[in-house]
Amino acid sequence: MQGLLVVISAPSGVGKSTIIRHLLSVDSNCVFSVSHTTRPPRAGEEDGVHYHFVDDDTFTQIQQSGGFVEWAHVHSNRYGTSVAEVERLRALGRDVIFEVDFQGGRSLMRSYPDAVSIFVLPPSMAEVRSRLVGRGTDDEAAISLRLNNARVEIATAGEYRYNVTNEVLEHAIEDVLAILRAERLRSTRCTRQIRDLVAEEV
Ligand code: 5GP
Repeated sequence: MQGLLVVISAPSGVGKSTIIRHLLSVDSNCVFSVSHTTRPPRAGEEDGVHYHFVDDDTFTQIQQSGGFVEWAHVHSNRYGTSVAEVERLRALGRDVIFEVDFQGGRSLMRSYPDAVSIFVLPPSMAEVRSRLVGRGTDDEAAISLRLNNARVEIATAGEYRYNVTNEVLEHAIEDVLAILRAERLRSTRCTRQIRDLVAEEV
């Protein structure tokens, strides 16, 4: 049976990466789709693990040869999901997790209408602000920009199949696991089992 395609989006400062990291560590059926990006690696990030880090020319080449299922400009860098990566992971029969912004989310939902789409919401904008301040990586102008971008992204949350609020991290993780569990049990994914049961001679 084909695995699920799971699209997860959230603005920065909402804890999406933490949720995905936990998900991958507790659910061995899930694999992460490693995107391409023109953004330079941050400390601790590994090429081929967190992203495929490429230069502008390489990204453009892949883009122009139709190598991306979707790509988008996010915070002045380009990010894209490669066709090759999706095909490789789908062939494994495992559930593929896509961590993309709302533009990528929209494209993937259009390309794969069966995709399980989850938008992670913050409990409040005040909480997003305090998480961004707590990171200590942005100045006040950058924080205002990220908060405005967050509002634009959150406005698209209704396009996703599920909304999970990350107020208490453990609960948000449980919610995502519950969604995946239920999605694996959808009747549309059991058609072969049903056919076999109906045909079974006893
Ligand atoms: P960061 O630079 O913080 O790792 O990611 C910035 C944003 O880009 C995040 O919202 C992340 O989900 C998004 N992103 C990462 N990979 C992709 C991708 O392949 N496509 C799109 N559209 N967005 C991505």
